[in-house]
Amino acid sequence: MPELAYLNGKILPIKKAMVPIEDRGYQFGDAVYEFIASYKGRMFCVEEHLDRLERSMRALDFPPVSKNSVRDALTHLFDKAMIERAGIYIQISRGVASRTHSFPQNTGVQTVMTVTKLSETHAYVNTGMAVITLKDFRWGRCDLKTVQLLPNVLAKQKALDKGVNDAIFVSDKGVVREATSSNVFFISSDKIVTHPLTHNILPGITRIMILDICRKKKIPVEERFYRVEDLYGADEVFLTGTTTEVTLVDTVDGRPVGEGLVGGHTIELYKALRERATRHADEKNE
Ligand code: PMP
Repeated sequence: MPELAYLNGKILPIKKAMVPIEDRGYQFGDAVYEFIASYKGRMFCVEEHLDRLERSMRALDFPPVSKNSVRDALTHLFDKAMIERAGIYIQISRGVASRTHSFPQNTGVQTVMTVTKLSETHAYVNTGMAVITLKDFRWGRCDLKTVQLLPNVLAKQKALDKGVNDAIFVSDKGVVREATSSNVFFISSDKIVTHPLTHNILPGITRIMILDICRKKKIPVEERFYRVEDLYGADEVFLTGTTTEVTLVDTVDGRPVGEGLVGGHTIELYKALRERATRHADEKNE
């Protein structure tokens, strides 16, 4: 079960995989990425992740990259690594070229991937998470999954320095957007609310799964703008993401949410998501 890397067609141990220093991802943050999780030896939501990767590249005018070739490379790497519960990272940059801001001409993209072990469940299954809210100081296209994550990195560190687990970005006008690496939901009077898809949040794959699960379970959902005060007064708050899965938030800016750790709907949705992921694996493994 080796942790492996893929670098432009070659598979090698992660520590041996090196990219040239003129990779535009390294010098300009001119790269897009995806992170996929596997359950029971099967990657979950691969097509959704590949579609989002393609969408990010198109929006940034990357040279065309065939989805089939990315899928083939990804599958080959994942099969070689044989890690049942893995995190698969894919990064595609606008290639390697001497450093000028404008797009390089006739330079192919550079693709790197890694497969590493992922813990069986997210980190806060038995506890719940404390978050703070912070002013959103990111750029205007947070719907594109680029490697320009410095604001997210700084916000996460600020949260840790303040003794909590994560930060939620809030607009100048007080609208709640998303957390540093996950989407945000709250529940009030048995209704589930989350920010609508705009340029200000990532269209999370787990967000789509949760919305779909809610529809199937006939739990009412609203995709609409809402404010920090709505989180303070919510019955439950939770975050969603590929590694976050569904994580209960028990305090926001030091204020306990609802009944603290109870989180009835959150736990139900967490279980439903895990069931969906493991059922998908079981069907493939049959
Ligand atoms: N928002 C941000 C800023 C993220 O980095 C992530 C994780 N990629 C998400 C939301 C959740 O997206 P997904 O469910 O596709 O992992």
